[in-house]
Amino acid sequence: MRFLKTSNLNTISRTSKQNSTRPLSAMAPNSTFVGLPVIPPEDPSLNAASPKPRGIQQVLLAREQSEGAGATVRRSIGTPKLKNLTPFLMLDHFDVGIGAGFPDHPHRGQETITYLLDGAVDHEDFAGNKGTIESGDLQFMTAGRGIVHAEMPHDNGDGTSNVGMQLWVDLPKDLKNCEPRYRDLKAKEIPTAEIDDGKVTVKVISGRSHGVDSVQELAYTPVWLLDVTIRPGGKIVQPLPAGWNAFAYMLEGTANFDTGVTTQEIKQYHNAVFEQKGDQVIAQIGPEAKEAARFVLVAGMPLDQPIVQYGPFVLTDPSQVRQAMMDYSTYSNGFERAENWESAIGKGMG
Ligand code: MN
Repeated sequence: MRFLKTSNLNTISRTSKQNSTRPLSAMAPNSTFVGLPVIPPEDPSLNAASPKPRGIQQVLLAREQSEGAGATVRRSIGTPKLKNLTPFLMLDHFDVGIGAGFPDHPHRGQETITYLLDGAVDHEDFAGNKGTIESGDLQFMTAGRGIVHAEMPHDNGDGTSNVGMQLWVDLPKDLKNCEPRYRDLKAKEIPTAEIDDGKVTVKVISGRSHGVDSVQELAYTPVWLLDVTIRPGGKIVQPLPAGWNAFAYMLEGTANFDTGVTTQEIKQYHNAVFEQKGDQVIAQIGPEAKEAARFVLVAGMPLDQPIVQYGPFVLTDPSQVRQAMMDYSTYSNGFERAENWESAIGKGMG
């Protein structure tokens, strides 16, 4: 939910509309690209005869920080310790109450995946799309060449907070200029895998777990997203595509990860970043554990391209980032509809 205040852009002249209309050379539209399969066929790790566990290269504690207007996030990707992990640009575990939120702000060049864990978040964009993401639901938003939108806490009527995760995924460079689009995934549409005699439940949001495949075609960049709950005495062995970057972010409790060399304990609000080497992730908790452990296991196909980011603009070279700021402030090249637009849900908070 990284947020860029419009006032940060006040230094940019709004007078150079002529210059800003030139085409962006590295942003040629490519309407034929429909994305790669989320389950790679013939993958050496998914089909490994003697699979090996992945090691852990880094464990990051996501500390609370303020973001947007009065919201708090625990960020574990997109920080000085881990600027990005291609294709992942940011991971926020957010908590947004009434009176806070992310009023009107732009995006270009990435996809955002919002997963509501508790409460709800209202969404409205400059193309007239609006809706509410409720507990257990996801929204996959492709910003492409440009989106301006507001993400605000839903009034649950009882003062409860709105908790969720937002993951930013880089777009392949040929798709940075694509048209914005949305994919919604409702909680009831998400298939689940019950394993280890019911001691482990996996919500298969994207990817494959124990023979259960997700709904396909959610993001352009192939990403696996599994919501794993392990109850006391439970264990999961989860294969991941070969060479993809992967991490486990612990939402609740503590789980032990078998790295093949040792067992590493990962606690709540910690993000364990795995080595690229290896075929699978193994996690368990002992029968004596007092509570279940819940984590999201996320993997994505690395993109071989530079990442040049300024706030919500993610391109592949600095001139494109300057162009994005110019386009946003001159309502050009995808930001036309931002002119005279103000969301109803973010009103008074910009
Ligand atoms: Mn946003």
